[in-house]
Parts: sequence; C-alpha cells; structure tokens
Amino acid sequence: MALYQEQNIKVYNSISGEKENFKTLVDGYVGMYVCGPTVYSNVHLGNVRTFMSFDMVFRYLKHLGYKVRFVRNITDAGHLENDADVGEDRIAKKARLEQIEPMEVVQRYTVDFHNILNKFNFLPPSIEPTATGHIIEQIEIIKTIIDKGLAYEVNGSVYFDVLKYNETKPYGILSKRNVEDLIHNTRVLDGQSDKKNPQDFALWKKAEPQHIMRWPSPWSDGFPGWHLECTAMSTKYLGEQFDIHGGGMDLKFPHHECEIAQAEACNGHNPVSYWMHANMLIMNGKKMAKSTGNYILPNEIFSGDNQHITKAYSPSVARFFMLQAHYRSILDFTNNGLLASEKGFNRLLDGINSITDLKAGNKSTIDIAAWRQKCYDAMNDDFNSPILIANLFEGVKYINQIKEGSATISASDLELLQNTMTVFTFDILGLTNITKADNSSDKLEGAVDLLINLRQEARANKDFALSDKIRDELAASGIQLKDGKEGTTFTTN
Ligand SMILES: [Zn+2]
Repeated sequence: MALYQEQNIKVYNSISGEKENFKTLVDGYVGMYVCGPTVYSNVHLGNVRTFMSFDMVFRYLKHLGYKVRFVRNITDAGHLENDADVGEDRIAKKARLEQIEPMEVVQRYTVDFHNILNKFNFLPPSIEPTATGHIIEQIEIIKTIIDKGLAYEVNGSVYFDVLKYNETKPYGILSKRNVEDLIHNTRVLDGQSDKKNPQDFALWKKAEPQHIMRWPSPWSDGFPGWHLECTAMSTKYLGEQFDIHGGGMDLKFPHHECEIAQAEACNGHNPVSYWMHANMLIMNGKKMAKSTGNYILPNEIFSGDNQHITKAYSPSVARFFMLQAHYRSILDFTNNGLLASEKGFNRLLDGINSITDLKAGNKSTIDIAAWRQKCYDAMNDDFNSPILIANLFEGVKYINQIKEGSATISASDLELLQNTMTVFTFDILGLTNITKADNSSDKLEGAVDLLINLRQEARANKDFALSDKIRDELAASGIQLKDGKEGTTFTTN
C-alpha cells in the first residue's frame, strides 16, 4: 500500500475558502501547475518564498508515493508593466534600457533564477515550459475562444469579452468579485483602448512598430496576453483538468481569474481541482516587491551585504526561517527572526547528528510511532510546516532524554526515530545538513580575523605593501575585506 493511501491530506482550496480532502483525478497521479517567474530581473526573497511553498508541497506528495508531474513556467514574453494591458513588455523594456536582445535578458535572469533555487536546494520541476515556446498553442486557444463568441478583434488585437462570458459563467469566482463591482471599480481608460469594456483583457496584442518581441498571427504581428500562456501550457502538459494550480496570492486576480475564464470558454469546465495561494513575505511592514524597492536579494542574505541584516545566513537557515511560517500566513522578514532561526536550525541539526551516538535498550519509554504520525498529521493538515517543525523539536527532546538516560528506546524505534527525523527535515522540508560546513566557516572566520589583525598591525607600522598584499590575496581567494567605522569585516563569495 502506498503511503498516500494511509495519509489523508486536506488542502485549503482558495476557490471554496475551505480545507478539502485531497482526491486526485487519477489515482496515484498528481498534476500540478505553478506560475513561474517573469525573467526580467533578479529573483528576490519574496518570490523565493512562494516557489519554496510549492517545492515543499511537491516534495511531500512525492514522499507519499504520488507520481507528480509538476509544471512551472518561465514567462519570457507578454507580461506588461500594468495589469490593465497597458505599458511596455517588462522584458522588452529591460532589453531596450540595457541595449541588448530580449532573449539575453531572458537568458540572464533564467540562469539567475535557477542558480538561486539550486542554492536553496529546490527540486527541479518535471517540465519548465516558456511562453515564447508556446505561441502556436496560444493562437489556437484564441481562435477557439473567438469561435465560441467570447472574444473579439479590434485593430489587430483580440480581447476576452468578460460581460458576455459572465452571462453564462460567473467571472470572479476565485477572487470573490462580481462583475458589477468590477465595472464600478475599473478606471475608464482614456480613449486609448480598443476594449469594449475596461474589464475585458487582452488575449493578443498588436505590436507597435518599435516593439521587438513579435510573432505573426491571423490578427496582426504581435504577442500574446500574459494570462494566456498559463492556460496554454497547463492544458498542453496536464490536460483540460488537473489537480493543483499554485501561485502567489497576488496572482488570484486578475491572472488566475482570467485563466479560469479562458479555460471555461475553451473547454467548458474549471480547469483546476485545488487552487493554492502562498502568502506574502513582508519587510518594514510592506510587501516585498521589485517595483517599490522594498526587497532583499538571496545573495545579499548569503553574503550579509544588506542594511537589513547584521550578518550572513546560509541558504538552509533562510529556508528554515521561511518554513517556520505556514505558507498561507504573512511572514515578516527581520534580522531577529533569522538569528532565532539560525539557533533553532543548529539545535535541530545537532539533535539529528547525535542520533548515531544513541544506544538502544530493551524497550521504549517513548511512543515513537505516535510521534511519527503527528509529523504526518502536520503535513496532512494543509502542509503545516511550522507544526511539523515543532514536532521535530519534540524529536530532539526525545534524543536528549535518551542521551541523558531519562528515557530508553528499542532498536527498531531508534531506527524509526532516525528515519523520521531525516526524512522530514531533509527530504520533505528540503533543508541540508550543514553542520560540517558551519564548523569550517567558524574556522575560516578565525583565520581571516587573524589576517585582519596582522593587516592592522602592518598599517600601524606604515607597512602598506604588506597590508595591501593581505587584502589583495584574500580578495583573490574570494574574501573581500571591508573597512568601516566599527573596524574591518569580511564577506565571501
Ligand atoms: Zn500563470
């Protein structure tokens, strides 16, 4: 019997607003689609948190024995600066400003995205399709929606007719909006738009002459609307209906609402069984976002080179910090939070790494099987990683009790304890055992501090040749010294 047949997961479904029993469309298989990044800038920590939530979901479903096809796209065209289908394409704008090809922008930031996710120990998705690789599929969907009478062409652009659609299917069911409110709240466009109604959204946009990213279509040389790519790629790789669709909370409207409308218009049914939305990471009380400048980059956390933190943190500590909050809760990014997570994470690893020193006795005074099920129960309850982590600390408590002799454990329970601790910490939460690396970074710190002191002595003796030599040779081996008011500090790359 597969594990998923023994464990009953409940998933909070954004569309019903309730935790529901998780039942897949095909027994033993999960189709999961997550909206990926728009690759026009470095991925910031808020983005990472969203993707990490679904990495954890992917890992847990795989652990339970499901065959998971996980599709996470790369948006490399069509995402305009403004949700109301106006403004420049984000990638084309970056390319224009830097005077490079749009595909150079895409390549640079796709590589950055993968590098960062690798540092955080993400599992790669099963398929990572791109919008530009699926222009033909998107054009076919537009043709179908036009044939169904739910889209119209004006001056080479094609728009989805929200009011017409709403006559038979409710538009706004995911974000709990109704069309009347939308009409009321939508700013009337100043005569610039070809849309019949401001709440209609673009399926195809005719490209202005200066727009470099363009493809031929029956309507004009242009580019697809942003919402369409996800419908095209999820349908192609997961079918007209699939199990899980995930993304950040901010994508509920309009992006996911438009995906539902497109799929309903095309295929006649809601494409997704469970809509999952990950909550925001905030800093200084505000959402972390590129557009407002209120963000921190992962590499700044790893180097300590950012005004919001006092030191460098490893990717696993940052990962642990984020998983200590439930994916549907807002998480406040603070240096104190990271410091506490670092302590906690080291305590967890110390516990796990000392299990091999434990001696088994004749019988157990602790119910390891019941505790193990509590770990599953936490994950079964809408992937509640903070409760799971609390249970793992309960496991550390047992380890210490056995070590001190206040509890005993049988050989088979000891094996179960070790297996449960390592499976949940490393396989499911995706953390890495960095104790050894940690020790070596302590040693490195000691050695560099010694060199910093020698350099200071050299400078005091006006031996600048020696002080420069120390600085330059450290830099050559990837260690940068920084002279500040408080003395000299260093960062590594
Ligand atoms: Zn999407």
